[in-house]
Amino acid sequence: MPDRHDDKRGPKRVPLLPLRDIVVFPHMVVPLFVGREKSIGALEEAMAKGGSKEIFLSAQRKAKTNEPCPEDIFTIGTLGTIIQLLRLPDGTVKVLVEGKRRAAIRRFTQTDGFFTVEVEEVPDLPERSLELDALVREVHATFETYVKLNKRIAPEILISVQTIEEAGQLADTMVGQLQLKLAEKQAVLEIDSPFKRLGRIYELVKAEIEILQVERKIRTRVKKQMEKTQKEYYLNEQMQAIQKELGDRDEFKNELTDLEERAKQKELSKEAQGKVKKELKKLRMMAPMSAEAAVVRNYVDWVLALPWGEKTEDKLDVTDAERILDEDHYGLKKVKERILEYLAVQALVKKLKGPILCLVGPPGVGKTSLARSIAKATGRNFVRLSLGGVRDEAEIRGHRRTYIGALPGKIVQSLKKAGTQNPVFLLDEIDKMSTDFRGDPSAALLEVLDPEQNSTFNDHYLDLDYDLSDVMFITTANYLHGIPIPLQDRMEIIQLPGYTEFEKVSIAERYLIPKQKRDNGIAEVPVEFPDDAVRDVIHFYTKEAGVRNLEREIATVCRKIARDVVAKKAPVRTLSDGAGTGWRVTPKRLTRYLGPHRFRYGRQEGQDEIGLVMGLAVTMYGGDLLATEVSIVAGKGKLVLTGKLGDVMQESAQAAISYVRSRAPSLGLDRDFYSRTDIHVHFPEGAIPKDGPSAGITMCTGLVSALLRVPVRRDLAMTGEITLRGRVLPIGGLKEKILAAHRSGITTVIMPKENAKDLRDIPKRVLKTLKVIPVEHMDEVLRHALILPNPETFLIEPSVPVDWRQPSERRDRDRRDELSRMPVASAVPPPSAIDEPASPSDERPPVSSPGSSPASPGSSPDTNAAPFPSPALCVRED
Ligand code: ADP
Repeated sequence: MPDRHDDKRGPKRVPLLPLRDIVVFPHMVVPLFVGREKSIGALEEAMAKGGSKEIFLSAQRKAKTNEPCPEDIFTIGTLGTIIQLLRLPDGTVKVLVEGKRRAAIRRFTQTDGFFTVEVEEVPDLPERSLELDALVREVHATFETYVKLNKRIAPEILISVQTIEEAGQLADTMVGQLQLKLAEKQAVLEIDSPFKRLGRIYELVKAEIEILQVERKIRTRVKKQMEKTQKEYYLNEQMQAIQKELGDRDEFKNELTDLEERAKQKELSKEAQGKVKKELKKLRMMAPMSAEAAVVRNYVDWVLALPWGEKTEDKLDVTDAERILDEDHYGLKKVKERILEYLAVQALVKKLKGPILCLVGPPGVGKTSLARSIAKATGRNFVRLSLGGVRDEAEIRGHRRTYIGALPGKIVQSLKKAGTQNPVFLLDEIDKMSTDFRGDPSAALLEVLDPEQNSTFNDHYLDLDYDLSDVMFITTANYLHGIPIPLQDRMEIIQLPGYTEFEKVSIAERYLIPKQKRDNGIAEVPVEFPDDAVRDVIHFYTKEAGVRNLEREIATVCRKIARDVVAKKAPVRTLSDGAGTGWRVTPKRLTRYLGPHRFRYGRQEGQDEIGLVMGLAVTMYGGDLLATEVSIVAGKGKLVLTGKLGDVMQESAQAAISYVRSRAPSLGLDRDFYSRTDIHVHFPEGAIPKDGPSAGITMCTGLVSALLRVPVRRDLAMTGEITLRGRVLPIGGLKEKILAAHRSGITTVIMPKENAKDLRDIPKRVLKTLKVIPVEHMDEVLRHALILPNPETFLIEPSVPVDWRQPSERRDRDRRDELSRMPVASAVPPPSAIDEPASPSDERPPVSSPGSSPASPGSSPDTNAAPFPSPALCVRED
């Protein structure tokens, strides 16, 4: 590079070649096409000069200017030499020039024809530093990356650039490889410090690299996408070709036509029609086997499978309906009447908006079969949906179609099953729904059961309004309290409390036995099932308010007989009607058919016990006896409640104790008896916690019995709540409770007087076998329940609130005096009195010995337990 050392020469005059759109740098060889007259003139001038062939190359500020004047030309340019000049036939010239050195125009010396300028060279500043070396190295490395990314740069250029160590030259060489605007290039040219110039180039290369990297990323992404779509397109085409070969495509087409045909035939709602059309259109565009197509097809299928406008004609003949109901069910007079009224109103108004019937009662009382009979009586289809365990709103209303495997809710599924838009729809066990984080199913049911809203029921899956207003909804539940209040509000509750023993016997005789004989294929076989055998089945093999187990046991007997018949065993008995031999199911033979007795009938205790009282409660089986045990031990005034109902009974137990404490003096108890004893109350079996066993008086009786050590009548049961003052409060479920007492062989029932009005609902036959004693106060309960020698005189003085402000000793003395004057005290001698030997002159009547006492008025004649009191029983242990 000899030119670098010639740069000390002073200003020189050279012709100027104004350049459009290009900046020529030193060390750069570029071909130029020159067309302008002036420029050709300048070139010729340079060539004419002979030896040097020098020319000044400087860019125009604006490429468009055709006749540039000095102002239009950048002052800084490059002094170059012409390597080759070629005249082309069209008069233009192709010239190959090489940039030599940076120079600045000092003066335009000639502007005529072409420009001649006086230029002064701008030599690179001599610089040398570690920083510069580092920059050179870094630029080398960066340029390598740049070349790798930029496919337009030939690898040879990289090699030649790598050999350049001088910063200024490196910068000038690299600038040509960058894609820069004219102004940017010119700006680089004008930097005379090689370090700064190379620094600027470094920045520019870095920026270029970044752009290239982003470009590359975009390119790969686009490429991938293209590849994927191309692949899919290709595969789809192939699949279609295969399907065509196999005839699948035709099948798909057939299916589509089939769906269209079905859609036309259905009386879809406008909305549904629109939806189905849209979905079918979508389906036509899809690949038949794709997952999306399956989803769409499924949806259309569901919509078309629903009944739209298909209805059965209602039979509105009330007499006929009555006949059908009677045919299927025994008794249930009230329920049947209500159903017939419902049907009658419907016959008149044609379309009945509500109310929805809700049949509430224990299992097996015929709720489901009643609903079935209603369907039969009205000529409607019947469909049943069990809500037991439903805890998700989506189970009622379905999942949105966006979920994988989404399905419509159970309501829509059941309607599909029903096949008509006006079935009898039984929502079973509505009290067994529960709620969790997935939403409240009862809220969805509210909409279903509301006659005002259910004409536009919207299932999430179908996303369509469906009219449920023609559906006759009937719901069932075991307990009323299990049904959410807003739902209860929508329905008319009909209670089926359970059957009496008489009803059960009749149901068995008229319905269950013939039905089971039919079902077990022995309808034609002579079988006699006498009443007493049925009664024994009821007593010893079932324990229920309904008749489901009874039916099951009868079925077992029938099966056994069927087996005998098939095994050709000879009939075993002569039938009572003398019509020959057959099978006679006598009470004695029951164990052969049904095994040993499963239940003890009339679970009275063997004898009258101290502290054991029979309460009455509502349970799953309707009503039941609730044995309540109270035991008193020496202690420190603790009250312990155990058994399933322990928690529920806390309050009643406290009330009972308060009553006993307030009555302590009259009962002959020490004022502080409770502080020296622990009271343990136990309820061995369960009842429904909500309804509560209403066992306040039961517990209190047990408590008094245990404290006084007086036995309680074993043939007596009671129910009632108690207040602190001993008032007896009314209870619920009287019918169930009295039926339970009747089932269990109880002869006397104590109940709150306020419940007397409910006795109307209880079958007369039951009341005939029971003595019902309505009471208002706990004192009365005790008089009837405890086995006392003179019950009529027990606790006859009114209960007076205790004046706790008196000094306790004085009060005690007063009381004791009072008590000793009263005959009652003799019934239960105060412990202090028992300690003294009874004198003949005592006012108290002599205590009779066990067995010799006349039966107390309250006790039943068959009581064989020792009538109280025997003095021994009254002696306190402490
Ligand atoms: P639930 O739905 O109340 O639990 P079901 O309706 O399933 O009870 O009744 C159980 C069985 O008892 C059925 O076979 C039914 O026919 C029969 N049943 C119940 N009550 C009666 C009745 N009053 N007369 C005749 N059969 C009855």
